[in-house]
Amino acid sequence: MRGFHCVDPSHDRIEFTGADDEDLFRSIKEHTADAHPDLTDSQIKEMMAGADWWQTMATSGNNAGSSPSAYDK
Ligand SMILES: [Zn+2]
Repeated sequence: MRGFHCVDPSHDRIEFTGADDEDLFRSIKEHTADAHPDLTDSQIKEMMAGADWWQTMATSGNNAGSSPSAYDK
């Protein structure tokens, strides 16, 4: 099981889970399509992989408290 969570001023903390990274990606994508339409597929994959730009955003500012990368659950 893989996990991820999103924190944003526009919504409360949301937890995502998936059987594997592909399944997790689909869950996150359903959310971002509504809540964060500016995020591209490749940006979501970078978030899951813990890209440097996302690590910074996930630990400071509006998205502080978001998961900095996908994790085993
Ligand atoms: Zn969100």
